[in-house]
Amino acid sequence: MSDGGLRRRGWKDRLGDEVECVRCGESFDSTEVDRMLWCEGCRARTSARATRVGALTGVLTAALLAWYIWTTMRPTDLVLGGWAACLVAAGWIASKITREVAYGVFRSIPDDRPSGAR
Ligand SMILES: [Zn+2]
Repeated sequence: MSDGGLRRRGWKDRLGDEVECVRCGESFDSTEVDRMLWCEGCRARTSARATRVGALTGVLTAALLAWYIWTTMRPTDLVLGGWAACLVAAGWIASKITREVAYGVFRSIPDDRPSGAR
């Protein structure tokens, strides 16, 4: 790959052509890992895990809010659609926030699982 020497030197130039993913330990070309030296597969698996945690939190939040609304606030069925929209919005926001926080936490904590157990 020739770029005529015009390409600016970046952080990846300090790495060799082959780098190990810090998560799974497999070797990749330095263009296939991100700044934290995570490969595409590890990022995708962690992202999916964070999405599952976020979805679960969203559902739990909506369920708790529904329980609170129906037992404490006792809404009339006049604006039932509004309450339902409120639950959907609360669950959606909770899932998005939790997903982002969970992804950041999963990326920052070291992987203590033994190699090959994922
Ligand atoms: Zn990896």
